[in-house]
Amino acid sequence: LADDDRTARIPRYARVNALKWTIDEAIKAIQRRGYVLGDPLDGMCVPPVVHQFTEMIPQFISRPLRNFTRDAHVENLLLFPPQARLTDTSEYFDGRLILQDKASCFPAVVLDPPSYPGSVIIDATAAPGNKTSHLSALMGNQGKILAFERDRKRYGTLKTMLARAGCSNVEALNVDFLTTDFDDEKYAHVTHILLDPSCSGSGIINRLDHLVESETESSSVAHTERLTKLATFQLQMLRHAMKFPRVENIVYSTCSIHPEENEQVVAATLRSMEATAGGFRLAPRSVVLPEWSRRGQPGILDDTDTEAVVRCSPGEDLTNGFFVSCFIRRCGARPSMR
Ligand code: SAM
Repeated sequence: LADDDRTARIPRYARVNALKWTIDEAIKAIQRRGYVLGDPLDGMCVPPVVHQFTEMIPQFISRPLRNFTRDAHVENLLLFPPQARLTDTSEYFDGRLILQDKASCFPAVVLDPPSYPGSVIIDATAAPGNKTSHLSALMGNQGKILAFERDRKRYGTLKTMLARAGCSNVEALNVDFLTTDFDDEKYAHVTHILLDPSCSGSGIINRLDHLVESETESSSVAHTERLTKLATFQLQMLRHAMKFPRVENIVYSTCSIHPEENEQVVAATLRSMEATAGGFRLAPRSVVLPEWSRRGQPGILDDTDTEAVVRCSPGEDLTNGFFVSCFIRRCGARPSMR
């Protein structure tokens, strides 16, 4: 399928921000706007309602249908027809509705952050902040999220987004995550890290929900060099995350479809000293969106680890292209390497 056709198959997703609104309130408000609620859909196949839209694309564009439904995998996520205009609603402006592609909701769900008093987690690469605000909502504004963003301008966007979403448990830091001293007392209680670093963005075919750090490459040599550089950086970030003394769960995600940034980075991380000495392995499929059928690209990780990671194929899965993996520390293992 061409990019335009694949984009036309991606529903418009809106996450109901549980810090400001309940799903029931949201559904009622959206119904009052004239939308009709359909049955929850299985997002792993082409849902009948969206299938119907894609077959009727010419008519659909000129006469948008006003259906919406709840997502089958992510709590508080709503699906609208691809052409639905939600950016001019008050719910969007005041942070009750957050436009976020389904696949980009997976990392926070997989990280499953703790929300007991005193819990501390890190979002290592936070701007524009969709995953940070999702983590904050899952934590019910309890505990603390240290949200790092090294780029000054994107840090400004992050602050704006967090304020709009009503996240009061986030400390946003305009700091390079790689410069953090993991032995600092401030990080002594960090148990969970979300790492969604800069990547090629090759999975993004619908740019509406993303502030992608875009770059275009002209030649395949430049493309290969860029992927190598990105993969080196991604590996460095993962190895740094594994040095935090109490960290038990690290979710690594990208919006890339390239194995160089996904399975190959995971494989290199598993071979690293930080992972072997620190006792890290991949969390099994049973705790990483087990019902999602598209798993890792075969032939890079062993079969169990290939099953343990999640991929989304742009357009085919009604999402943008995405990759999610989760590293966990073996029970009792502690970092012996710094
Ligand atoms: N997680 C974000 C979200 O869902 O809204 C998207 C993150 S984006 C893919 C990656 C971000 O990481 C960029 O804003 C980039 O500036 C930032 N970044 C890259 N390297 C970093 C570093 N070493 N420390 C902190 N932030 C970094």
